Amino acid sequence: MSKSKNMISTCYTSMECNSCKLIKKRKFSTGDVVFSTSEDCSECDGKMLITKIFGVIMD
Ligand SMILES: [Zn+2]
Repeated sequence: MSKSKNMISTCYTSMECNSCKLIKKRKFSTGDVVFSTSEDCSECDGKMLITKIFGVIMD
């Protein structure tokens, strides 16, 4: 058995407004799927499209 490192991986969701192209990042939440629309844009009446989900590993 190898020792497991105590690493914390945090997932983030990157999304872009389909109307004004605003880009936002927030912590990943369950149900986020790439290329699905997630929430309303805060700057216009557009929808935020999830463009990327990525993980950051911190030790
Ligand atoms: Zn927008």
